[in-house]
Amino acid sequence: MLPAPDTDAIDEAAALLVGAQHAVALTGAGISKESGIPTFRGKDGLWTVRGEPPLNQFQEFHRDPKAWWVRRLEQRANPDEFALSLSASEPNDAHYALAELESIGVLRHVITQNVDNLHRRAGQQSITEIHGNMRWMRCTDCHTRWPEDKVDVNLEDLPPRCPEPGCSGIVKGDGVMFGEPIPPDALERCYAEAAMADVFLLVGTSAVVYPAAMFPQLAHQRGASLIEIDPEPTALSELARVALRGPAGEMLPLLLRAVRERIERR
Ligand code: NAD
Ligand code: ZN
Repeated sequence: MLPAPDTDAIDEAAALLVGAQHAVALTGAGISKESGIPTFRGKDGLWTVRGEPPLNQFQEFHRDPKAWWVRRLEQRANPDEFALSLSASEPNDAHYALAELESIGVLRHVITQNVDNLHRRAGQQSITEIHGNMRWMRCTDCHTRWPEDKVDVNLEDLPPRCPEPGCSGIVKGDGVMFGEPIPPDALERCYAEAAMADVFLLVGTSAVVYPAAMFPQLAHQRGASLIEIDPEPTALSELARVALRGPAGEMLPLLLRAVRERIERR
């Protein structure tokens, strides 16, 4: 049986959030685990089981974008285990709790490393998908993004070209590939959020992927308090002021309840 949640830690985290001027969250694969999507790292992570994918995906895409598109369409027709888990997934209580923290004015922004679209589906409004979104596409020249059903994909004429006036750049999936720089607009927004953050919530991220893991560290250097929600210690645990050790789908609703109680008492 799991130990009972640490109510002192939950209350301390709630006090930090309620007192914050600008609270920001960084989320990773762990927040979507309870939605049935496996993580990549960790003891039962996909890469731990299968090995890491090739690191030159972006160079390969540029070498032959048509071949990449043909593979993508084939994978859509025959999805692997990870793709199936993405398409079957629904937001869980952790995604909904973060969206609710935003709607009551406590959380200002979410930076997610996830590509699964679940924060948006839970109603999160202010969000940077630093590694893109599997349901979106993006122009490699002007960086405009669109939900995938907004771009015509003509099998006879691959790769698709950007429909924006004056741009005919090659369109790719929005998911950021290995070897691909983070899109500049996303990076800029993350720096701006890290500069404003006085509380940084880390949820379900091992915090070893850069530049994502840098933003809570930048905020911490400027005096922000870090709150970590993860069943296991992470690369940033030493910097955390409070750690809630448990699944996000359990811890975030408890944290939301404690935040609401504090607001009502004010
Ligand atoms: P990670 O796989 O490196 O780490 C996952 C973290 O989640 C670990 O610290 C683990 O202890 C924690 N965790 C496991 N179960 C949890 C739970 N129920 N609640 C809270 N935390 C839990 O993930 P990462 O740091 O996000 O890096 C992986 C990279 O792979 C990211 O860049 C991301 O883009 C990508 N990815 C995305 C998805 C997705 O979109 N859902 C899934 C897998 C990987
Ligand atoms: Zn374009």
